[in-house]
Amino acid sequence: MNKKYFPLDKNALEKLAQRFPTPFYIYDEKAITENVRRIKASFSVFPSYKNHFAVKALPNPYMLKILNNEGFGADCASYPELLLAEMSGMKGEDIMLTSNETPADEYRAAKKMGAVINLDDFTHIEFLEKTSGLPELISMRYNPGPLKEGNAIIGRPQEAKYGFTREKIIEGYSLLKTKGVKRFALHTMVASNELSIPYHIETARMLFELAVEIKEKTGVRLEFINLGGGMGIPYKPDQEAVDYQALSDGIQKAYNEILKPACLDPMNIRTEWGRVVTGPYGWLVTRAVHKKEIYRNYIALDACMADLMRPALYGAYHHITVPGRENEPLSETYDIVGSLCENNDKFAIQRKLPKIKTTAESGSGDFVIIHDAGAHGRSMGFNYNGKLRCGELLLRQDGSVVQIRRPETVEDYFATLDITGLKDFK
Ligand SMILES: *Cc1c(COP(=O)(O)O)cnc(C)c1O
Repeated sequence: MNKKYFPLDKNALEKLAQRFPTPFYIYDEKAITENVRRIKASFSVFPSYKNHFAVKALPNPYMLKILNNEGFGADCASYPELLLAEMSGMKGEDIMLTSNETPADEYRAAKKMGAVINLDDFTHIEFLEKTSGLPELISMRYNPGPLKEGNAIIGRPQEAKYGFTREKIIEGYSLLKTKGVKRFALHTMVASNELSIPYHIETARMLFELAVEIKEKTGVRLEFINLGGGMGIPYKPDQEAVDYQALSDGIQKAYNEILKPACLDPMNIRTEWGRVVTGPYGWLVTRAVHKKEIYRNYIALDACMADLMRPALYGAYHHITVPGRENEPLSETYDIVGSLCENNDKFAIQRKLPKIKTTAESGSGDFVIIHDAGAHGRSMGFNYNGKLRCGELLLRQDGSVVQIRRPETVEDYFATLDITGLKDFK
């Protein structure tokens, strides 16, 4: 069991909603900072352990600054994400570029920043050399193919477009060595939202064994191994959060068994977790606007799948609570929906909830809190149907609230259209 919480009670929320009308995202800085410290404490046995927060999970420079202050770096997938990391104060090798099908200007930008470039394919060695020149340090992404079981969400590695095969990655280190590259790293990313500790330990073991093989076959001694992202969070109340210490202990055991005898100690360990860092400490705060009773009973919110895609995209479960009604019986069965013209615009399907009052009925409808939205939430949003995405708030350690992204306006929606020629356009 994990207890679903929300940091504000109904009265505090009413006050906040007067300043910042719903819908909005809100993130709990204190809880995120404590979580980061728990991760660091559990991994402190690896002396220069660093998590490169996956920027795509929560691409806001205020959040990146909080994480940077705690010693985390960033993992970026694009030029704008590199800029976000830089803007938040991260520098040089704090930043990794793990992109795929990477354009030349992205490589050039990363190289100029001194970020760690993580290559996605053998052919990119020559591409990088031609377009940007090779940096002193290079990381490569490994795809184990049939050698590793797939994870439910990300699928089977041999069907994934990412990374080098085992053969090619070894050839890659040899080639880079002959081209004068001095420092080397290894990376993989084979799971998404995976809660199984043995699965993640097995991934570490696989990479450690590969590091030994690389050393034997090419003479390259890796400087760090990046275990990737994909650590799961318990979206459902009956799931358990990952025990960081148990995970770290398991990785340490594999380290002692595989890396130490091969004289690859000390080896720096990195991760690039996103979801597990901020996911449980962010919420989409909405109000119930309409109630509709047809073949099913619907509650319609002022947010929609443009604000949070996961339920529509993956059928993902997000826990829902109604502040002020925590102690009421779950007497109703609702589909909780948004206003987009897509029938999969549903935050929950046939969910047992207390009876919800809507704005249409009572003037100001109940708040409806969508939990575990602190990662891969706002960032996945889109503007289909002319829907404007909501803003983001940060609950600071002292209890104050600041807006770290305003809601979109109609002007934002039209910002990329040049309508000056429209009048004369026939
Ligand atoms: C998405 C992604 C991550 C982060 O995944 P989480 O599930 O948020 O931990 C890390 N690295 C790469 C390369 C990714 O694509």
